[in-house]
Amino acid sequence: MITATPVPLLKDNYAWLLRDDSGFTAIVDPAEPGPVAAAIDAAGGTLDLILLTHHHGDHVAGTDEIRARYSAPVVGAKADAHRLPKLDREVWEGSEIDLGNAVARVYETPGHTRGHISFYIADGGVLLCGDTLFSLGCGRLLEGTPQEMFKSLMRFAALPGDTLVCCGHEYTESNAAFARHADPENLDLLAYAERVTELRAMGLPTIPSRLSDELECNPFLRAGDVASLADLRARKDRF
Ligand code: ZN
Ligand code: FE
Repeated sequence: MITATPVPLLKDNYAWLLRDDSGFTAIVDPAEPGPVAAAIDAAGGTLDLILLTHHHGDHVAGTDEIRARYSAPVVGAKADAHRLPKLDREVWEGSEIDLGNAVARVYETPGHTRGHISFYIADGGVLLCGDTLFSLGCGRLLEGTPQEMFKSLMRFAALPGDTLVCCGHEYTESNAAFARHADPENLDLLAYAERVTELRAMGLPTIPSRLSDELECNPFLRAGDVASLADLRARKDRF
């Protein structure tokens, strides 16, 4: 079974340290070498794999340094190989990646970027969704269409409710402000937003969140169709 631990870095990013009971260790989106190496060393000092969700610098900038330091192979989207750090393994929709005793399945989840991929690990219920889904929000449509983002989000929505949403940013508190504006009558959202405020006041991460909470509270996951999602995303961009 995989456990996922957030590694805070840069201003509001998270890399994710994945470990299984056999000691297998992987890191997702090692953008900043210092905090990532500290987390790996605290967990035993070995690294078996580096996983990349998408090509943005705030997700991949530390990749080459971490690869060199731990001699760990790098896995990323074949579709974006030309703009990712050098990949040791290229993956696509349906690819399976061995993580010790667990397996990560690759979902192509375009919307934020064309080549964005996510990793779902059923054993542990871990979803590594980069900048596609955030707690109470979703990624900006920098390259993709509302249709693509809708489809990506609906795939996440079909996963088990206890799935842990391990996204790439601590945006929850500011996302909550827009979510409450967009869905003012939602009492589940009100309660969730209060919890978020408390966690942040204590300096604690709000991530991972639970998919069941996102399904109740995240307006982007609750948008019933592409047009509503497009409208929400446009309003959030101006909010
Ligand atoms: Zn990004
Ligand atoms: Fe990002």
